[in-house]
Amino acid sequence: MKFGGTCLGSEDMLDRMTKVVKAEKERKIVVVSASAGVTNSMKDFVAKPRHEKEIDDFLLALKGKHVDMLPKKDGHSRKEALELIETKITKLERLLYGVTYTEELTPRTNDLILSFGERLSAIVVSSLLKHEGLEAVSMEADALGMVTNDQHGNAVAILDECEKNMAPPLESALKKDIVPVVTGFFGITKSGHVTTVGRSGTDYTAAVVAYTTRANPIEIWKEVDGFMSADPKLVKGAFLLDRLSYEEAAELAYFGAQVLHPRAVQPARLKGIDIVIKNLYKPSSPGTIIGSHRLARDDIIKSVSYLPNVATLKVYDTGAGYKSGFLADITACLHKANINIFSATTSQTCAALLIDEADIPNAKKAVKAIIGTVGENFEVKSGMALICTVGEGFGMTKGIAARVFNAVAAKDVNVDLISAGASMVAYHFTVDRKDLKNAVVAIHDEFWGKRI
Ligand code: ASP
Ligand code: MG
Repeated sequence: MKFGGTCLGSEDMLDRMTKVVKAEKERKIVVVSASAGVTNSMKDFVAKPRHEKEIDDFLLALKGKHVDMLPKKDGHSRKEALELIETKITKLERLLYGVTYTEELTPRTNDLILSFGERLSAIVVSSLLKHEGLEAVSMEADALGMVTNDQHGNAVAILDECEKNMAPPLESALKKDIVPVVTGFFGITKSGHVTTVGRSGTDYTAAVVAYTTRANPIEIWKEVDGFMSADPKLVKGAFLLDRLSYEEAAELAYFGAQVLHPRAVQPARLKGIDIVIKNLYKPSSPGTIIGSHRLARDDIIKSVSYLPNVATLKVYDTGAGYKSGFLADITACLHKANINIFSATTSQTCAALLIDEADIPNAKKAVKAIIGTVGENFEVKSGMALICTVGEGFGMTKGIAARVFNAVAAKDVNVDLISAGASMVAYHFTVDRKDLKNAVVAIHDEFWGKRI
């Protein structure tokens, strides 16, 4: 049972959380994010130089926030939690002083600092569960041995190592009817350094925990019902999807549906574990189930998602198509600048890459440095949106792409870059941002107009 930051963001939500954990009669492991806003506040705090005085104020507020979340009544579980919170705050204090004095923030230290949000919330949650009469124990992912590679900020779990380390302590706790409350979001390298697995990465931790213990299903508790056929803010008739395949969920999550961390699918798929999105406001509603379901006849297209802020980076070169290493050189230079590429298409004279609009300044700098050696000139087009249509049926049904593009064309929307075929379950393309809503509504109407 994974609980995200918003599930831990208010007294009411904490109450709902303890109720659903208590109501679950099967053996269970709880995985928690930092409380809403905590990771961001730490990230912002270390992002600029601070005075010592600011550290005190910051930690006082952080501590107060977590103490306020503890069971109100004095008692053993509150007292124990207060002590644990105190030790965490002291450690964090030392780290923050270190960063302030050295005026240096390495990716490694940054990850270690950010991990404290989850460490604190795991203490709070286990204390609340204990107060409700459950045997809960907070367990930190680094101590448990959630081993990752050393890519700070976006680390990937080494699943067989994780299994070796994590299964014994978790299973032994479960056997004793203890509810482990595991910290999400971070792991540890083989050489003992804390890494984070990417923003919103607690879903991924939950999947790793499930992989190591064969826990099934993974419940992702949120404040929404699950995956929708489209963003309900754009499309009035958008509806909840009850089932998705692993691939569909991964593509939708990657391309804008902020329901699940895209990488959470991988450990689950490897062991055939279902992922269920659950709404803390409506615990009895079934939500979206993600697993290896058979294709149903009406599954042709399932959903349309989007990324609203993308840019196209085009690098031109006559004969680019014949030059081996052309694309590799460009992607390597962007990788070095820490820029993620959403998608790439190439032609004889050009390589076109989709990037986040926020990365434009860095991308320009990086590419400028290689122009002349790699590519003759380049161009960046901002103000684009990426639309992604997803469904298992894409790979096996004729005429689906034509219907998508006809629907968009009928609204007089120009399609810029198209990428299809890389995934059997997704097509994506870019449009001018001002046309985003029109295009999404047109596709939704084309496939589900009659249902509404
Ligand atoms: N606390 C982390 C974040 O805000 C991880 C998570 O919420 O899943 O990104
Ligand atoms: Mg979060």
